[in-house]
Amino acid sequence: MWHASGFSSTGPMKDSRSALERQAQIESASLRASLGLLLRVGAWFGILTGLIEGLGLLLFQRINWKQWARVLHVSREILWVSPLVDLLFFLAIALVVWLASLLFRRLPALRMLVLLLTFLSVYDWLALTNRLYWLACFLLALGVATAFTRWSSRHEATAAEFWNRSAGWMIVIFAILFAAIQGGSWLHERVAEARLPVAPSGTPNVLIIVVDTLRADHLSSYGYPRPTSPEIDRVAKQGVQFENAIAPCSWSLPSHASLLTGRYPLEHGLVNVQPMPWLGWGKDSLNGYSTLGEALQQRGYRTGAFSANRVYFTSNVGLGRGFLHFEDYFFSAGDSLTRTLYGRKLARFYFNRSDKSKVTRLVRAMGLGSWLDKDSEGSGTYGGAFGVRKRASDVNHEVLRWIERDRGRPFFAFLNYLDVHYEYGGPRGYPKPAWDQKTPIDEYDAGLMYADDYIGRLLRELGRLGVAENTIVIITSDHGESLGGHGLTYHGAALYWDLIHVPLIISYPGHVPAGLKLSPPVSTNAVPAMILDLVGAKGQHVFPGPTLGDSVVTSGAGERWRNPLSELQQTNIIVPQDRVVEGKVPIATNGDMKALVTDRWHLIVHSELGTQLYDWTSDPAELHDLAETIDGKTTVQNLLVELEREQQSEGSTKLP
Ligand SMILES: [Zn+2]
Repeated sequence: MWHASGFSSTGPMKDSRSALERQAQIESASLRASLGLLLRVGAWFGILTGLIEGLGLLLFQRINWKQWARVLHVSREILWVSPLVDLLFFLAIALVVWLASLLFRRLPALRMLVLLLTFLSVYDWLALTNRLYWLACFLLALGVATAFTRWSSRHEATAAEFWNRSAGWMIVIFAILFAAIQGGSWLHERVAEARLPVAPSGTPNVLIIVVDTLRADHLSSYGYPRPTSPEIDRVAKQGVQFENAIAPCSWSLPSHASLLTGRYPLEHGLVNVQPMPWLGWGKDSLNGYSTLGEALQQRGYRTGAFSANRVYFTSNVGLGRGFLHFEDYFFSAGDSLTRTLYGRKLARFYFNRSDKSKVTRLVRAMGLGSWLDKDSEGSGTYGGAFGVRKRASDVNHEVLRWIERDRGRPFFAFLNYLDVHYEYGGPRGYPKPAWDQKTPIDEYDAGLMYADDYIGRLLRELGRLGVAENTIVIITSDHGESLGGHGLTYHGAALYWDLIHVPLIISYPGHVPAGLKLSPPVSTNAVPAMILDLVGAKGQHVFPGPTLGDSVVTSGAGERWRNPLSELQQTNIIVPQDRVVEGKVPIATNGDMKALVTDRWHLIVHSELGTQLYDWTSDPAELHDLAETIDGKTTVQNLLVELEREQQSEGSTKLP
């Protein structure tokens, strides 16, 4: 133990004492720095650095919102996660410095530790802005660290006493913050749940599973020759399968907003990432439209969202309204680590090693293999940091824990699985299907098999909990994937059939007909209206139709249904692989796009690059653009009128 009293009790210093003697005394103080003091200094710097880092990360993700797709995101939990990670990191450094001082007896341990930790703190605060060149951060941090260390070693006794006394307080502040954030969320949810009206007994639970990026034609229940989806097929056999469901957009953010509001992108307005309001999203988000979560809360439902797409389906982007519970970030220790500044630097080190490298093998040997499962969140693809992928198994774990917590009320759970999304293939170590020769399509299908397996596991767990029979299950997707069609590989750049044709399956044992397949095109926008209809809110006016209910039973569905639209706002968020078709294929980097689907035609209108027309019934790959044929021209004219009319009626359904 290092004693500051050794300095204060020496009595008044004699003026005659030479500068050399004072220097020697200070040096001996550093030499005698105990492990206890070094750890306190480590704790003090670690918690302070992490607190400012957490605040800074929250602040700068708002300021830097234009880089949204390239940032690893955070929510308020970062205010305790960052201090914890920096605390552990800085304590480890303190330990190493202490060990070094045992080996090299003349090492000025305290001074050295202060220099190192000041440097790391200042570098951390500068780098988290995501706006300064790393060398500038490095040099500035070095300058500040040198100056501060020089100053503190001149007042080493006082400084040491300060660290000795205040380290404990820093730990108290950390503990209070942790309790306030975690306890606050817990309490807020409990209070909100207690205020819910009581649902009539027998009210069904609602489970929506969005398998992100799933095109319908790769499911065996939709006629795909490979057995990719035995579990989803089983749900389809118990319920209604919409053969031609159309996504309202070809990328995640607008489509998720549509699934929650029943509104097209131009109506709800979330056509691109919008700046986050400083005080959080209020009622004005999504142009003020009601969400399915809100409507179900009014009927006594607990509502929860569980998202593996942490770029575009999060509370941060404005999709939290209506959910009392939202799990997106911080699902595991590895995920939490990569959201801190030094954690992501460490992650870059182990993520960017080959599968056979010693680092990779060491991480796996430590049982942390899931930390190596890269996510597209973050700027990893562009040389920055990767996130840790959240798998269907993680989402299942979250939702089941939440369902089991309160069995007294019906639940509405909205899930996003990201396993079919690029990078394809499912998690490492999960058995590959026999067909997998590592082509993109093989791997896409392998990812689907994994997601399908976990849908089955989730439904079996619901059976075990005794709630499966009384749960409405909806399986759908936010958009498809090009997989090479029109030279495109990904999604979000166009509105071709492979990008908007998604599965839509609804099962509710005993209440919707089993094994019914409906062929009229329908927008997945209809999901909120269909659910409200099924839970007994007949004739509701909150969400535009069509509804399922009675019309399906009498098999009159389709006749009254409006033809679905898709809307894609001009965007620059497309992957480089898809940008190569620019100039050859009309894509959304050059302008806004819209599509209308009828029972035969698929009209695509580009604001700058003309109109395309396909007969999706005979040409689903859309190889033959008929817009310039003689018959095609007339059809285009008629469909343009209809498109105009549909869009006008969109506006008329707007709520005040
Ligand atoms: Zn998506």
